[in-house]
This record gives sequence, structure tokens and C-alpha cells, in this order.
Amino acid sequence: MTASPYPPPGAEAVLESCPDALLVVTEDGTILRVNAATERMFGYTRDELLGRDHRMLLAEGFRSGLQRIFFALRRDADAGHVITAATHHDAGPAATALPHAAAPAFHPVEAYGLRRDGTEFQGEVACSLLAQDSGDAPLSMAVAVRDTSHRQAADAGLREAMSLLSATLESTADGILVVSGDGRIAGVNNQFISMWGIPRGLLATQDDEAVLDFVLDQLVDPGKFVDKVTALYADPSAESHDVLDFRDGRTFERYSRPQKVADKVVGRVWSFRDVTPARVAQDRITQAMADLAEQAAQLKDLAFKDPLTGLSNRQLFNDHLAAALLGPCGTAVDVLLLDLDDFKEVNDILGHHAGDQMLIEVGRRLRECVRPNDVVARLGGDEFVVLLVGSLDAEAVAARIVDSLRVPLWIDGTMLRPSLSLGLASINEDAVDASELLRRADVAMYAAKSAGKNRYLRFRPEMMKSLVQRTELEAGLRLAVDAGQIAVHYQPIISTRRGVVVKVEALARWERDGETVPPQQFIPAAERSGLIVEIGTEVLLKGCTELKPWLAEDPARSLAVNVSGVQLQHGDFAELVLAVTESCGVDPRQLVLEVTESVFFDDDCHVIQQLVALRQAGVRVALDDFGTGYSSLGRLQDLPVDTLKIDQSFTSMIRSGNENLPILSCMISMAHGLGLTVTAEGVETAEQAEYLMNLDCDSLQGFLFSGAEAAPALPPAMARSAGVFAALRGERVAGHR
Ligand code: C2E
Ligand code: CA
Ligand code: CA
Repeated sequence: MTASPYPPPGAEAVLESCPDALLVVTEDGTILRVNAATERMFGYTRDELLGRDHRMLLAEGFRSGLQRIFFALRRDADAGHVITAATHHDAGPAATALPHAAAPAFHPVEAYGLRRDGTEFQGEVACSLLAQDSGDAPLSMAVAVRDTSHRQAADAGLREAMSLLSATLESTADGILVVSGDGRIAGVNNQFISMWGIPRGLLATQDDEAVLDFVLDQLVDPGKFVDKVTALYADPSAESHDVLDFRDGRTFERYSRPQKVADKVVGRVWSFRDVTPARVAQDRITQAMADLAEQAAQLKDLAFKDPLTGLSNRQLFNDHLAAALLGPCGTAVDVLLLDLDDFKEVNDILGHHAGDQMLIEVGRRLRECVRPNDVVARLGGDEFVVLLVGSLDAEAVAARIVDSLRVPLWIDGTMLRPSLSLGLASINEDAVDASELLRRADVAMYAAKSAGKNRYLRFRPEMMKSLVQRTELEAGLRLAVDAGQIAVHYQPIISTRRGVVVKVEALARWERDGETVPPQQFIPAAERSGLIVEIGTEVLLKGCTELKPWLAEDPARSLAVNVSGVQLQHGDFAELVLAVTESCGVDPRQLVLEVTESVFFDDDCHVIQQLVALRQAGVRVALDDFGTGYSSLGRLQDLPVDTLKIDQSFTSMIRSGNENLPILSCMISMAHGLGLTVTAEGVETAEQAEYLMNLDCDSLQGFLFSGAEAAPALPPAMARSAGVFAALRGERVAGHR
């Protein structure tokens, strides 16, 4: 060891250069010594301090402190005790500032010093008894004072930092929860409590389980949250983030990160952010976008959909057809054009609402007949079109469509049995364009209508010919009427009560170049062109003229003449009829006018007025083709009619004669109940005649008895009819025996 190069300083020098203020005070408090630091600290000169009372250096409230310490030190020294601050409960304000933790045997106390300029400062005061040089020297105490104002500044900084932190925590919108490493709640902010609605009392219990249950109860998927928490506690350093959905509709974002002190994980900080408003806003945006998309789709629908049936419209159909025709060569493209039969009647009789319902239902049934991707369009009115692309059997689809209306439909409590006529056209070897394809389907559809409706027909080139023929027919008919080519044939109608022919129906015939054109072919054309008025008058006139002798023989005999709605629309129809009967000398009571139900539903009410006027003159009215179209038993009582003619389609339901046909018995008994007579049309078999007779039908008409014959051939036809009936009745009588 080498000797220190510095000579040891003297005790006096050490005392003077000590940075703490050092004083020696006597038992009575007089200052005996001070060092330079004392002068600096308190702002007095050494002379101003020596011999003075030390209490001048202590702030109010601390002045008796030193003397008490003095006494305590001396008492303990006398008793040989070790001094501990904890034992000095009576040491005054300075002593009470001591912490209660175990302190070293000699512990400094805090006190406030008073400077010469009157300012105070915080300081730490340490005291010790001074060893006595001689027995009678007065006892004194060494006092060391250290200015601790710097510590106060540091404390204030800490306090400020703490308050800043807590203010920040409390003012953040996030709810924050700190959980210690052992899983206990170490702290929460108010936001956390209010966001989760946790009762203060529950939190105060520090029962983490109870708090967790309370939290979980509010979540839509508590299981998922528990799993997340479990996973995070298994990995204390993990960070995670997710979204929590609340049962009350709120949404929180959750963040969780470890709480670290100097790189050591001591707990976990959870923060929750209520993002409900943002989510609601986002949802609104999403909804608005969806609404917009829907509106766009609706606009598109409006442009391309038929609003009534929801089917495609003409425009969309045309687009699809054009696209189909541009498709790969060899792919079948079929157009099925269809039109409801007698749809006008539904509108006229049942009103437009019923008409609309029917179109909707037809549209629905059409869709059911085709594949989901096939185009079904409504072209307008009661016209529909189906486009089949790549179909293997278009005719099967056509048949299915015609069949689909076999099941009756109910509209506003009325049962309707609509039918449709369908024309089918397909692309084949001779490439055709869209408009030609549609024209062919149209021609085929008209052919289906002419062939008796309620059917489909595939386009054939000959149909073009018949289209031309139809136009020629209309032109020819005009000439025929002028040339007197319209003849009248008469079909006997036999009375079941009397067994003889009491009535004949006049049926128009067109004798064209030695050929007889059937009325189904020319009557519709005559109605379209209005020629029916002249034809109808001609039939009435010929009928009255030719049958006058037969009618004159028996006033119970009558002549039935068909009348078209077009004729009734002429205001002078009743006058004309009565003028004809009068000019021919036929009793109006021997005339029956056959009309179909549809004439009664014309908006024109003078149709009914004319029939009423004619009935007043004795003319009777028969309701023709009853049961077809859209007729109903319920309306029967309101119509000015005398006879009901049951359509052939009902008569043909009788086959073996053993079947139960309530519709027939119901029609007949209802008509009788209303005071009408009933004629059954189209009786072709003995079984039908018998069945109808059993139902008390008043008269029978049909090929079983006789077809329609020209006037000269009528008497034998009548005799034949009576013969057939007599034979029938004989058989019946025989059968009963
Ligand atoms: P409609 O008034 O129902 O006449 C009865 C039709 O049924 C007649 O046909 C008649 O020949 C036919 N017929 C009679 N018995 C039978 C039978 O047992 N079986 C079958 N299958 N048919 C039978 P037609 O003469 O061909 O007349 C057809 C339709 O043309 C008539 O039906 C009527 O609506 C109309 N028509 C005929 N003449 C006139 C007329 O002068 N004026 C008007 N407006 N229409 C007429
Ligand atoms: Ca008739
Ligand atoms: Ca009829």
C-alpha cells in the first residue's frame, strides 16, 4: 500500500466545508456554534447567530421540536437506551412526520426552517448529543440541517405526472381495465365502469368471477370471449384485438396488451372502445348501398318486366330472341306464341280485376311449364310468348302449356276454365330472322284458333295459304251475301214431353262454288267485318219465309235463329226483327232468338233493352252454349231469357249413361226453378238422350235425331227424329218392364 499523497484535513476545515448546516445548541436552546453552511442556508452572519436562541431558525409549529428531541436524547442516554424515532410519540410535530415503519436507531426528522428574509424551506434535521469534555460542562446537542426543497420539487413532479396520467385515463373514451399477473383487477377507469354498466358495489367486492359473469351476460357470444381470454392468459405477452357484439346491439372493439415494467410482464391491460355509432353508420351505408342496388334492379325490372305478371316484357323477349338467333348453329330455338281464348269475355263479364287475376295466374302456370332459364314474356293484353333455347321437345312443352289450364282457376269466388291457342315456330334449315319466326308463330296461333281453340299447332307453310285464304274468304263473303249464296238449313229439336219436333234451329250455310262452307269458318269473319248483320237478317227472313207453313200448322211450333252480339248493338234490331216477322206473317211468339251470355255484358245497355222489348212482343230468348266460356248459374236469374241451351260439351260428358254428373242435374233443376225450359244440344247417343230425359230435360237436339237440313229435306228429317225418339221411348219402356 502506498501512502496517500494528501495530508489529512483538520476537523475545523471539515466542519466549515460541510455542505449541511451544522449547529451546536445548549440545553436551553442557545446557539453555541455554527458553520459556514448555516450562514448560507439561513441568511444570517455567524455573529448574528451565536448566543441567540435557535428557535429563530425554525418555522412556526416546529419551534419546540428540537428541545423535545434534546430532552428525549438525554433521558435515553441516562437510561442507556438506543434512540429510535418510533419511541418519540411525544416528540411534537417534527416527530409525527416520521414514517411509522421501522427506522434506524438515529433517524432524521422533517421540519421547516425560517430564513432571515422570512421565507421558509423544508429540511431534514438530525440531532445527536455532544460528548462532554468535562463533568460540569453544559450538555449540548449537535444539529445537522439539510435543505430538502429539491425533494419536494421531485415529489410535485411525480404528483403532476400521476395526475396527468389519471386525467388522461379518465378523459379517454376507451374503457380501461388492468388485471394483475395473478388475475386480480388492479385498476379500471370510470369509462370502463359505465361502458359495461358495472355496479360500483360489485367492483368493490374485488370478486373477479362475479365481474366476469356480469360482463359475459351482456355478450352475444360469451363463449368466444371466454376462449379468447383463456388463450391470452396462457400467453401473457400476447397482444390481441377483436370485436365484441352486445345483446343490446352495441359493438365494442377490444384490445388487450401485456402490462410491462422494465420488460417484465406484470399484468394485462384491456381497453374497450364503443364503436356502435361507427358500426351503425357503417350499417347505414351498407343498407343505403343495398337500397340503391335494389332501386337500380327495380328500375331495370320496370324497363324489362311486365308489371302485372312479373314476366319479361316484349323488349326483353326481343333481346333474348336476337341473342338466341346469334347463338351456336344447330341449337334449337323455338317460339311459342299464345293467346287466351275469349279473354275479352272475362273482362266484360267479371271485370278488369278478375281479368288481371287471370293473366297473373296464367303467367304463373306458364312459368311452371318451362325450365327456369326459359324466357316467358307477356306481349300485351292476353298474348304471351315463350322462348325455348336448346329444348329437345318443344311440342311437349306446348302440349304441357295447353294442358296447364285444364285445372280450373278460381277468381273472386268464380270458377273459370280458360283455354288458350298456341302457335309454335322453330328455326330449321332455312335460316329465319326474329321477326319471321314470330310471324310464323302468329300464323300457327291463328290456325290453332280457327281449328277450334284450346290447342297448339306447329307452323306449316300451308298455314300461310290459309291465311291468304282467310283474307280471300272475307272478300268472298261480301260477294256471297250480295249474290244470295247464304242458305239456311234447319235442325229439328224434339220435345221430350210430346215426342215430336216442335222447334227447328236455323243455321246459316254458305254455298260456295257447289261447296258448303261451315259457319265456324265464315261467322267469325262475318262478325269481324260486320257482314253478320246482313247475314243474320237473311237467315231470319229465309227462315220465316221457308217455315211459315210449318209454323202456321201449330202455334206451339217455333223457329230458333242465332243472333250475334254485333247485331244486337244496332239500335234498330228489335224493330227489324218485328218488321220481318210481320212481313212474313209469322207470329213473334213463334220466334226464338238464340244469344250467348256474352251479349249481356256489353257496356251498351240497349242490348238488354232490345231483348226486353222483343220479349214484350212475344219473342222468346234462348241462352245458347250455356256452360261454356265464363257463364255462371248464379247470374241466370237476372237475364231476360226463356230457354237454356246446354252446350254440347256437357252433353258429351254422358258416355255410359251410368255416371253421376251433378253439374247437369244442377243446371237443369236450377233453370226449371227459374221458370226456364231446357234444351240439350249435341245429343248423339241414346244414352245421352235417356240420361237427359231422366233429368227432365225439355227438349233434345242433335245428330241422334237429325242434323241440319235444307227446307225441302226438313219434313222427312222431322219424321225421322220423331221415329228415333219413339224407338228410344219404347226401349225405355221395355227397359223399365
Ligand atoms: P250453335 O248455335 O251452337 O249451333 C249448333 C251447332 O251444333 C250447329 O253447327 C249444329 O250443326 C251442331 N250440331 C247439332 N247437333 C250436333 C251433334 O249432335 N253433334 C255435333 N258435333 N254437332 C251438332 P253449325 O251449323 O256448324 O253452326 C255452328 C255455329 O255457328 C253455331 O253454333 C252458331 O254459333 C253459329 N251460327 C250458325 N248459323 C248462324 C247464324 O245464322 N247466325 C249466327 N250469328 N251464328 C250462326
Ligand atoms: Ca244456336
Ligand atoms: Ca249452341
